[in-house]
Amino acid sequence: MSLEIINLWYVVSAALFIFGLKQLGSPATAVRGNKLSSIAMLIAVVVTLFNKDILPWEWIIGAILVGSLVGAITAQKVEMTSMPEMVALFNGSGGIASLMVGWAALYNVGNTTFTDITILLSILIGGMTFSGSILAWGKLSEVINSAAVVFGAQRFVNALILVAIVVCSVMFCLEPAVDSPYLYAVIALALIFGVMAVLPIGGADMPVVISLLNSYSGLAACAAGFAINNNILIVAGSMVGAAGIILTNIMCKAMNRSLGHVLFSGFGAVKEATKVEGEVKPINSEDAFLILEAAQSVSFVPGYGMAVAQAQHVVRELGELLEKNGAEVTYAIHPVAGRMPGHMNVLLAEANVPYDQLVEMEDINPRIDKVDVAVVIGANDVVNPAARNDENSPIYGMPIINVDQAQTVFVLKRSMASGFSGVDNPLFFGDNTRMLFGDAKQSIAAVVAEFKT
Ligand code: NDP
Repeated sequence: MSLEIINLWYVVSAALFIFGLKQLGSPATAVRGNKLSSIAMLIAVVVTLFNKDILPWEWIIGAILVGSLVGAITAQKVEMTSMPEMVALFNGSGGIASLMVGWAALYNVGNTTFTDITILLSILIGGMTFSGSILAWGKLSEVINSAAVVFGAQRFVNALILVAIVVCSVMFCLEPAVDSPYLYAVIALALIFGVMAVLPIGGADMPVVISLLNSYSGLAACAAGFAINNNILIVAGSMVGAAGIILTNIMCKAMNRSLGHVLFSGFGAVKEATKVEGEVKPINSEDAFLILEAAQSVSFVPGYGMAVAQAQHVVRELGELLEKNGAEVTYAIHPVAGRMPGHMNVLLAEANVPYDQLVEMEDINPRIDKVDVAVVIGANDVVNPAARNDENSPIYGMPIINVDQAQTVFVLKRSMASGFSGVDNPLFFGDNTRMLFGDAKQSIAAVVAEFKT
């Protein structure tokens, strides 16, 4: 295939990536956007492999079949609650792939100094992304403790590692070789730095690290694209890198934290929240039904527990019953609810909740005092008033959905346990709060059953 034809296909692929990304911006078009992007990726991979006969077509088709099968089975099997872990593993795979592409590019003859620098960058960023993502996966899946790990000389140690990376990188670029000891040192230091960068991030700050690692995996791929002079890898990598940074910014804003603060301060490492005490008022499904039946406006506030309970379908059913009963129904979405960006939107879209009933935190908060019943479904940190009122709380300053200001609040959860950040929640003791204990799906189903009888 001539270079012109290949680049033409790359332009088609890049255009599809751009349209795909654009369509991912709205739940109504997201599925189409995903399909467009995967077609773009297929074109990019097939065209690249045909180029210069890297692989015979039988191998390409065989690999596509095997890859598709593995992808399809994994996508079917993965639980909705495990998606963030899968994303972390994807980021890690992108990182290690870039590291290996960069390393392999060292075998090319006639590399320029610019190419050597991009090779180094793909190895460095790829290595950091790989080890950081594996640690993030461990924290998210709670294979290891998800809390921030902070120790005395942490910043000093990190600074030392950074200096060592810079020195080894310069030494390597002065005399680049596949068997350069500085190359091995850079690889080892990159892997260590990835771990050191994610260690002090934990608790409610985890959304930032996921989107940041996503961005790093794109930057590593972009550098690898320069290293092997592949245009579509440069384009796709920079799009992932840019999208990841934009998302990181959104996540930081959603938590009212600066990126520097998230990366270096260690979540909750120094603060001890005020102890929460008071009387808990449980409610059963019959009484919950009676209150909901009389309500004029109801706002559902979903969180991670809705994903665990897989309650989205039955929640939509309750929403429809309430609407038929004359109530105004909304679904208030917090940007970091759940365990990955957009988690709640995905779940509610899967259950066919009308998009126009989804309202963002900034839209619901000014009118939440007019909401008759706020139904909190497995959300905890994102509705914790300590973030607003308790200066000692580790989540102080994080914007929340102010459900405590609604006329009545139902909190659906199984126990008094704290959320992902491990911070106690005074909402559970509020005068207007009623706790509906149990699995969220069963609790909502019981209320739905009351409506139907
Ligand atoms: P939380 O993790 O704060 O709380 C979830 C609650 O769901 C728990 O308190 C739990 O209580 C309850 N729950 C679990 N299973 C069930 C069930 N089957 N039925 C009913 N309730 C259940 O969730 P939020 O969504 O409020 O907050 C998200 C947190 O995760 C934030 O701290 C955020 O920073 C963090 N995070 C977010 C990411 C993102 O990108 N969105 C990524 C990583 C972390 P109980 O056990 O008593 O039932």
